[in-house]
Amino acid sequence: MRSQIRSIFLALFIFSLAIVAPSLGAQNTQSGPARVIAIKAGKLVDPEKGATETNQIILVRGKQIEAVGPNVQIPADATVIDLSKSTVLPGLFDAHTHLCMTMNKERDNGNYYITTLLDPTPYRAIEGVANARDMLAAGFTSVRDVGNSGNYGDTALRQAIERGLVPGPTMVNAGRIIAPYGGQFRLQPEKRDLATPEYAFADTRDEMLKAIRENIHYGATVIKIVVDDQKYIYSVDDIRFMVAEAHRDGLKLAAHCWTEAGAHNAAEAGVDSIEHGQMMTNEDLQLAKKNHVVLVGTDFTESAAEEEGFPELHAVFVDRLKRAYQIGVTMAFGTDVIVAVPGETRGTLAAEYVDSWVEAGVPAKDTLQAMTINAARLLGIDRERGEIKPGLAADIVAMPENPLDNIQAVRKVSFVMKDGSVFKNE
Ligand SMILES: [Zn+2]
Repeated sequence: MRSQIRSIFLALFIFSLAIVAPSLGAQNTQSGPARVIAIKAGKLVDPEKGATETNQIILVRGKQIEAVGPNVQIPADATVIDLSKSTVLPGLFDAHTHLCMTMNKERDNGNYYITTLLDPTPYRAIEGVANARDMLAAGFTSVRDVGNSGNYGDTALRQAIERGLVPGPTMVNAGRIIAPYGGQFRLQPEKRDLATPEYAFADTRDEMLKAIRENIHYGATVIKIVVDDQKYIYSVDDIRFMVAEAHRDGLKLAAHCWTEAGAHNAAEAGVDSIEHGQMMTNEDLQLAKKNHVVLVGTDFTESAAEEEGFPELHAVFVDRLKRAYQIGVTMAFGTDVIVAVPGETRGTLAAEYVDSWVEAGVPAKDTLQAMTINAARLLGIDRERGEIKPGLAADIVAMPENPLDNIQAVRKVSFVMKDGSVFKNE
């Protein structure tokens, strides 16, 4: 009996090793004490304070920041990285990505419905690997990926990044987008399944509950709904019902709102974030502020709006960005890039969106907060990331110019460290 129990324990022990071993092996091939890196930062920006300190030392042990300051002792075994001519800041965030989708403009005639029909999930997951790598190279160390990844291509990508199989930003991912019948597409009655699995149609409360739970089961870490791309839109009560279920399960809810009515319902229901919201009135921006709704404005630059096929909306986005800033709505930087442009990467296209913030007259400090701490809070990872301070993950970027002087400096990231590993150092 005793030996039977012992062998059961032994079997359980071996089984648990088998579960743990692959992730350990992939993430850290070095054994022994954690690697120590000392970064000499000529300028160090704190986005929260909007302040720059000079000649700082950041000590990184393993994956974490251990100490920051002007007089930090550099251990004898530390590797020194000299960024004394650069400005150093926390890794950037993009709170609205679609890494597992790239619209092939010529083939798809500018319509991503066609993209979803022609690119299967395995291809899109590989596309996600490339886009994730390019986001990281541009300085984006965390993203919130809000759906359009086929059949959970985003979950596979997140897991591959977490296991160290491929480089990429920390990901919060949405799985399938939950939407009223038809999703964001125009179907035809003989081919009713063409939006599956891209969207989970949910019109009744039972369907909403089921869609949220299926998403969580298949690895979603945020819930994304489309409020309003059909004539029938989610009501305030519908949205409240889904927010409550998402929150009960420990997830936040992001709401795509393309119309004034949709954004109004989402603001009133108190979603965690409104995506786009370009038609929001000042009253609804006030309502969003009162209900602690974060605006992820995806403020398309002139060229991005042109690429996406709605050049007339650029001015609308910039005007709403200006009004949202003046009213004091909390904002997180998000881009919504799904196009490919020759000579650019997914990352450089995303970084370009700061141009809209400049155009709207948002001060560099506030834009930088939207790209770091505000986004970290929205993603729910602000206890681990988003600032350069002891105990947090070593997600660190550098650039030749100080973005507090000119926010467009973030378009020229020359150094990227992710979880204590140097990914780029030019
Ligand atoms: Zn989007």
